[in-house]
Amino acid sequence: MSPQILDNALAAVGHTPLIRLEKIAKQNGLKCNLLAKVEYMSVGGSVKDRIAKAMVEAAEKDGVLIPGKSVVIEPTSGNTGIGLAMACAIKGYPVIITLPNKMSLEKEASLRALGAEVVRTPTEAAWDSPESHIGVAQRLQREIPYGVILDQYRNVNNPLAHELTTGPEIIEAVVSTPSTSARPSSGKVDVIVAGAGTGGTITGLSRAMKKAHNNDCIVVAVDPKGSILAYPDELNKAEEGKPYIVEGIGYDFVPDVLSRDVSDIDHWVKTSDDEAFDAVKTIMRQEGLLVGGSSGSALSGALKWLRSEAGQKFAETEGMNVVMLFADGIRNYMSKPWFLNIAMQAEPSPLAGVIAQILKKG
Ligand code: PMP
Repeated sequence: MSPQILDNALAAVGHTPLIRLEKIAKQNGLKCNLLAKVEYMSVGGSVKDRIAKAMVEAAEKDGVLIPGKSVVIEPTSGNTGIGLAMACAIKGYPVIITLPNKMSLEKEASLRALGAEVVRTPTEAAWDSPESHIGVAQRLQREIPYGVILDQYRNVNNPLAHELTTGPEIIEAVVSTPSTSARPSSGKVDVIVAGAGTGGTITGLSRAMKKAHNNDCIVVAVDPKGSILAYPDELNKAEEGKPYIVEGIGYDFVPDVLSRDVSDIDHWVKTSDDEAFDAVKTIMRQEGLLVGGSSGSALSGALKWLRSEAGQKFAETEGMNVVMLFADGIRNYMSKPWFLNIAMQAEPSPLAGVIAQILKKG
């Protein structure tokens, strides 16, 4: 489609690029195509713009959101909040976001810049306690007239937004890229890998792939060590409840919108913070993409799975398309120590000596 004037920012949600990570594939000895769906290119900066738009539009259609009256309240790890605050800035709804303390200052600043109120909650509060981000949102909703929680943990429009937009965009990009001798392609999505938070992304992607595209597509979900989302439960036992730094993935309860059914999600992979942040550094340095922490989890989870018995044949077959979802960008984490370690880490650079020599000359 030729470029056109968009009516407002919501029209620029999604439509993100699918990018080949050729160097990382080569360095890991992979014959398959390693492809990344880069969601920080969506207008609000993350994959969650899609569900914010879908949930707001559906609620307006159903009469749940009433212009001039409703107040939108949502518990989130930040990105859904940013998507909602963007949509509500445009549409004129006041917004309150409840946000666990561990989530970055950058997310709070973006939320406030978009006009949202932000209430911080203790990270360690159990999801069903009145002090958690979910509990506080519910308490506010009970007291605030016309308060509405769109509830990404239960709202069918969460997985549906991915089934109807994220998935089809990936399929279209893969199907319309021709197979050549230099870059062979099976012409379909063979493996899809994404982190799970609410689980809406991985569940919706699975439906898009298995129902409408390739019934044999392997769906791999990534869950941080410390979280309990992975299935079977034994995968979680060793580190259950241990705090972790990566934001946006993992929970201490299984949200309704996450299908852990083995017919939807074929494999689960657990990843550590260190693995995620090492992978973020590789993505930045090798592929030039300024991704957030959970994208590192997605890459390290994908590589782990490709090295496993189940993954090996995909890793070793030319033309297999392995798609990873990179959920957000580094804008959300610029002040986090893990990122500053990557950015400012002193590494011997041949250029440093040259620069010093030139500047010494005066
Ligand atoms: N990564 C980041 C950075 C996120 O904000 C989220 C949303 N919580 C996810 C991954 C996981 O997405 P989902 O909630 O759809 O499972």
